[in-house]
Amino acid sequence: MRTFRIGRGVTQTDAVVLEEWDGDLTTDRIDVPEPGSGEALVDVRACGVTRTIENAIRGGLSDDPALTPRVPGHEFAGVVEAVGPGVDAVEPGDRVLCYFYLTCGACDACRRGDTARCTDFSGWLGVHRDGAYAERTVVPAANLLPLPDEASFEMGAVAADGLATPLHVCDRAAVDDTDTVLVVGAAGRVGVHLSQLAALRGARVLAADVDSDRLAHVDEVTPDAVTPVDAREDDLAARLRDRSDGAGPSVVVDTVGDLETLSAAWEALAMGGRVVSLTTHHDRRFDPPMKEFVVKEASFLGSRYATKDEVVRAARLLADGRVDPVVTDRVSLDEVPALHECIRRGDHHGMAVLRP
Ligand SMILES: [Zn+2]
Repeated sequence: MRTFRIGRGVTQTDAVVLEEWDGDLTTDRIDVPEPGSGEALVDVRACGVTRTIENAIRGGLSDDPALTPRVPGHEFAGVVEAVGPGVDAVEPGDRVLCYFYLTCGACDACRRGDTARCTDFSGWLGVHRDGAYAERTVVPAANLLPLPDEASFEMGAVAADGLATPLHVCDRAAVDDTDTVLVVGAAGRVGVHLSQLAALRGARVLAADVDSDRLAHVDEVTPDAVTPVDAREDDLAARLRDRSDGAGPSVVVDTVGDLETLSAAWEALAMGGRVVSLTTHHDRRFDPPMKEFVVKEASFLGSRYATKDEVVRAARLLADGRVDPVVTDRVSLDEVPALHECIRRGDHHGMAVLRP
């Protein structure tokens, strides 16, 4: 254990630090303050290293210079080491996983459990305050959720976003055994877990991605109900109809924002179909004629992260073995900067987990 106490209440920890948005990551030794009112100090055991965090590092969530230097990382699980004044929901020794959004806990949306729709939202962990690319981190205790006994820390890291986000998508689109679900970007961590989850709900799944390595990965880690589909081959709309008894997919989940693929999926969409977007690119527009919504009685839905309840449900699905956590790499703090280079170049698929 490299952490030691210095001075009054200050802990030092090794961490990955971003000096400025869209800048380089470096590993450094930093001070972690004693947890303040409503906060908890967590010993980080596993943290996802993902495209969502890469997007945050590039300034995709906020590029306010006042927020740097910053320790990124939000998809984590660990053990509570200490709590500040006024914290009674967790105590030292508790195994926890973490919720990504910094929510108020008091607005109508928070009170009814729709925490992702908080109307007094104060930002993202790893963007508006330090995250978990570190041995230790201090976070709001309200963001810590119980990690089931049977769930490993790595499962907690997967559940926190990689499975919780797909769970929210399946709830938004009411996926069931009558559906054929097209997952666009199926080799990513959201894609592979969404494909498993939709299959678990009895749906047929068409898992679309763009190269043979990525499609082979999808085939390897998903059940038989999931059929890999090459999104780059000709006549995608016709192939999607062929693979869904001529009706077309009834649910399309776009994790990528590629307009050519989305247009083909829209063309093939079944009557009563639902398109769910997770795309966060600022510059993408998708504007089919309004009449097409009416003719097919189609719905276009946005899906925003997950509720706190869904994060815990995701951890239980993994703990119970109903969904397999797909982890392709395990890295140390020193290896995180190079891994982000890989993610930036698009050379990485699946999900990597930091074990600090
Ligand atoms: Zn709120």
